[in-house]
Order: sequence, then structure tokens, then C-alpha cells
Amino acid sequence: MNPPPPIQDCERAAGSDGAWARPPLLFILSAPSGSGKSTLVRELLRVLPELEFSISYTTRPPRGSEINGREYFFVSREEFEAMRQSGDFLECAEVFGHCYGTAWAYLEDARKQGRDLVLDIDVQGAALVKARRPDAIGIFIAPPDRQTLAWRLRHRGQDTESAMETRLRDASREIAAYNKYDFLLLNDRLEDSVERLSAIVETERARVRGPRPGESEAARQRREQLAASCRREHAAVLLQPILRSFGLTGA
Ligand code: ADP
Ligand code: 5GP
Repeated sequence: MNPPPPIQDCERAAGSDGAWARPPLLFILSAPSGSGKSTLVRELLRVLPELEFSISYTTRPPRGSEINGREYFFVSREEFEAMRQSGDFLECAEVFGHCYGTAWAYLEDARKQGRDLVLDIDVQGAALVKARRPDAIGIFIAPPDRQTLAWRLRHRGQDTESAMETRLRDASREIAAYNKYDFLLLNDRLEDSVERLSAIVETERARVRGPRPGESEAARQRREQLAASCRREHAAVLLQPILRSFGLTGA
């Protein structure tokens, strides 16, 4: 896919009232398909309801129980291309043969409502968002190893054998991009991962907006420790065996 046309970032992002009064925090979540990202996002939104999920536009057809306007806005190639040409996307990318894009409109709405956004996007899209919004917080979710990823893909039961092979092959390329992210989260035990993910979100919010009212000192310390343990510089060592399981040597 061609890169999106240049966008007057500040102009578009500022909205019609012309001010970034309180820019929403952007949490970018990326992971190889099948790692558990959608599951984690769902749980995160359940425990931190004041977050908002950025619903992307896609040309891929709905899967299973997906509903237009809930998981995605499902559009035709022509509709997607028209939006891209009009500069409606903060970023867009082609993934597994389909187009996906994050609409500026979501950022504008979140800003007006003072809500933080969770973006579930691939590594190409994450790099584009980081270039335009360096303050965005990148979180890379990794599966425990290649074998577990293969098992989760199979267990999910949404893909043909050949689609699973493609996803596993692509997983190596995506995992190799982990060092572009601020945080690394190994999604082994789901409960632990949800706790870590919400600790990252809450700690970043507190860093920008000050302490959370009513939180005890012990809870604050625990939250900060959990978040710090997921910072890339601390968690990268845990990724080494995972990289090896994907045939990568690591950094
Ligand atoms: P993704 O959105 O990254 O493609 P999903 O959220 O669809 O992945 O998860 C893939 C499969 O793995 C699903 O069947 C889900 O229930 C399962 N799963 C997700 N996280 C875990 C976990 N921590 N432990 C075991 N299974 C998990
Ligand atoms: P799926 O079709 O399995 O829902 O998603 C396939 C991939 O597309 C996932 O890696 C997901 O994160 C990514 N994706 C979903 N929405 C967007 C988007 O708006 N932009 C980009 N760049 N990737 C997206």
C-alpha cells in the first residue's frame, strides 16, 4: 500500500475548536496474531472502563460474532481508498491482504470527551503513530513461545491451516520489532497480564496527570513496580528465549 498522503497533523488533530486542551493518552498495543491482544484489550476495558477502544476501519469481512461499529467499521476497498485520499487516517496499513486504518475522528472525539485511547494496531501502524505522536505509549505483547502461539491460534479456531502458517511466519517479523516499544508484556497467565497492563496504563496516567485520588501508598508502589518491570529495558531479558523459539537471535 502507498503511504498515506501528508496530513496537516496539528490542524486536523486540534479539531474545530483549534486546541489540544487535553490530548488523550494513546496506548498502542501490538502483538503477533493469536498472542491474546484482543482478549487483553477486552479485559483492560472491563477493569478500567474510562478507557476507549479506537475502532479501526478495515476492508476485511467480519469474522464470527463481529459487529460493524463494535470491533471494526467494515468498509469496501473503494470506501477505504476514498477515506485515505481525504486524509481521514492517522495511519493505515495493509495486513494479511486487507487494509486497516485508524481514523483521526476517533482522536478528536476522545480529546473532546477527555478519554484515553487504546489502539490495537500492527507494527507498521504503530511506527506511523509513534512518528506523528511521539508521546504515544507503545506496548508490545508477546506469547510465551512459538509453540504456545500455534496452540492459541489453533484453539481459537478462526483460521485455516494455511492462514495459521502465514500468521506464524509473520509472527517472527512482528516480534523482531519489539524494541520499538516502550513496554513488553509476556502474555502467559491471563490474570497476571491484565494486572500488568492496567498497571502500565494507570502509571502512565499518573505520570502525566498526577496521583490517582484515593489510592493507598502500598497500592501505588505495587502498581509502579509492576509497570516498571514491564519497561522494555527491564523485560527484554525475558524475551530472549521467546525470540529463540521463533528462530531469532535477539538484541
Ligand atoms: P489476538 O487478538 O492477539 O489475535 P486473541 O485475543 O484472539 O488473540 O487470543 C487468541 C486465543 O488465545 C483465544 O482463543 C484466547 O482465548 C486465547 N488466550 C488469550 N490470552 C491467553 C492466555 N493468557 N492464556 C491462554 N489462552 C489465552
Ligand atoms: P485482525 O484482522 O486479526 O483483527 O487484525 C489483523 C492485524 O491488523 C492485527 O495485528 C491488528 O492489530 C491490526 N490492525 C487492526 N486495526 C488496525 C489499524 O487500524 N491499523 C493498523 N496498522 N493495523 C491494524
